[in-house]
Amino acid sequence: MLWVCTVCGYVHEGEEAPEKCPKCGSPKEAFEALSEDAAKKIYDSDRTNDIHMAIVHYAMKIKALAKEGIELNLDTGCVDVFRKAHDEAWVMKQRSKAEIETHVGKGKW
Ligand SMILES: [Zn+2]
Repeated sequence: MLWVCTVCGYVHEGEEAPEKCPKCGSPKEAFEALSEDAAKKIYDSDRTNDIHMAIVHYAMKIKALAKEGIELNLDTGCVDVFRKAHDEAWVMKQRSKAEIETHVGKGKW
């Protein structure tokens, strides 16, 4: 069962609300039980946000690899492929970061 602190939005998992909010210190009474639908949305958002963060992580690795490839400068065709990978990785990273920001704004966090 999930409980949300109505003061700060902290989400607690357990049979009961915590004695005290670990974030803002509000008492147990400040917590509200989330409906099954709302809880499912939070669990799905958790996984989705993890996936976005993994994409950001891998995109940064691709960017670093592409940069190394550009610096090795073997031939123009090769450098061109690395340049494209470098730019595409940037787009992937920023797109997922922007989506995470949207989730946070909608309370999908
Ligand atoms: Zn709180």
